[in-house]
Amino acid sequence: MPVLSPPAKILVTGANGYVGCWAVRALLDKGYCVRAVVRTEDKARALSALIKAKHPSATVGQFDCAVIPDIIAPGCPLQADAIEAVLHDIQGIVHTATPVTFDLEDPEEYIRPAVEGTLGILRSAAKYPEIKRVVITSSIGAVAESIVEKSRIYTDEDFNEVAVEAVKRLGKAASGMQKYNASKVLAEKAAWAFCEANNGRLPYEICVIAPGWICGPIPDDPPSPEGFVTPSAIMEWTQLFVSPPPSPHPAVPFNYIDIRDVVEMHVRALELPQAGGERFIATSHVCTWQDWYDAAADMNLLPGLRRLHPPRSAEQRGATELPPHPVFSNEKAIRKLDMVFKTVPETLRALVDDFGARGWLKHLE
Ligand code: NAP
Repeated sequence: MPVLSPPAKILVTGANGYVGCWAVRALLDKGYCVRAVVRTEDKARALSALIKAKHPSATVGQFDCAVIPDIIAPGCPLQADAIEAVLHDIQGIVHTATPVTFDLEDPEEYIRPAVEGTLGILRSAAKYPEIKRVVITSSIGAVAESIVEKSRIYTDEDFNEVAVEAVKRLGKAASGMQKYNASKVLAEKAAWAFCEANNGRLPYEICVIAPGWICGPIPDDPPSPEGFVTPSAIMEWTQLFVSPPPSPHPAVPFNYIDIRDVVEMHVRALELPQAGGERFIATSHVCTWQDWYDAAADMNLLPGLRRLHPPRSAEQRGATELPPHPVFSNEKAIRKLDMVFKTVPETLRALVDDFGARGWLKHLE
């Protein structure tokens, strides 16, 4: 029997973000009720309008928004207090909110909202016996660094201590990626420690989903791709559809996952008994942007894409040697959650369909 099933009410934090917004939309499609947490009234209004437009059949009472201001803004109530006011009728939580950027100077700007936000939710949820599952969005950045000296396989047993050490040693001088990764490690570890310290006393189990670099269609309607804020959305736009693509070099390997698979894993994490108390890596496979260009050429997608990224011969493709890189194992997600991950051509097709329908690919026709 599932732990949760529709029409249970799910609280989603970071609900106007890339992952959060798709999670809200997928849950509504499946018949769940959703309370979406955002940081300002303006964002609540915009998200409510989006949901009304995209999900006209959502019933009255199936969707509402709650505003909880930034935990670290001066004078704002602590998220721990604010969140309790919105938990009284909730059965499951999807916690995606955290700073997703590589531009902040002080590591605490990442670490405080990540750790205190996660702990605030877990502490508050502990007071509500009806809450059965809390799904926390982590990252492969909490598992290992993206640049390694030797290629190797990483699993859900690994934590990225390299980033935590770098931030301890270098402080503000650590790279933006290291500060972000460290915040993801520390938030996750705080969550696991909280559950261990309260073993047997919590009404819920947690499940952690650690996605790779997320690609795929976008959930909302920004006026143009120049309005993207999420690094992965900016990257897929600039690497695939902008001429000439900026660095990184197209041969840099990364572990990618389709947004639809990320969201599906969050839903299964809410529903499946065997997901309780588990940590899952969410990746499809290692690829380079060059693989995306090859896929575009093979699929003969848009004439302009062929001009932008000229096709490579089979010989050239076979000769490519990847620099050392981490490989994040998705074996547990396949075995325990029955996931079948989408591949680059499937994500690329969905992207071209999505961006094309918005009129953003005219320069490539
Ligand atoms: P996103 O589009 O930037 O969304 C981040 C969300 O978190 C936004 O709703 C943002 O609210 C909220 N947020 C940021 N700082 C906050 C704070 N101090 N207090 C409260 N809310 C705050 O990023 P995303 O890609 O959806 O990321 C969602 C989750 O997925 C994150 O936990 C991230 O670590 C994880 N993840 C993402 C990727 C990826 O490739 N995108 C890969 C691995 C893991 P505002 O809009 O108000 O700023």
